[in-house]
Amino acid sequence: MGKDKVVLACGECKRRNYNTTKNKQNNPDRLEMNKYCKFCRKHTLHKETK
Ligand SMILES: [Zn+2]
Repeated sequence: MGKDKVVLACGECKRRNYNTTKNKQNNPDRLEMNKYCKFCRKHTLHKETK
């Protein structure tokens, strides 16, 4: 058990903007976070990619 690296991609332009970690044991669902996208120049929903 431990933390796994995940990448968050902008839901609008699909660019991969953030790297983070999560515990997949505790968090089996795909992460979704509202974060700033410098390409869209606004906050968008970022989703975990595989
Ligand atoms: Zn974007």
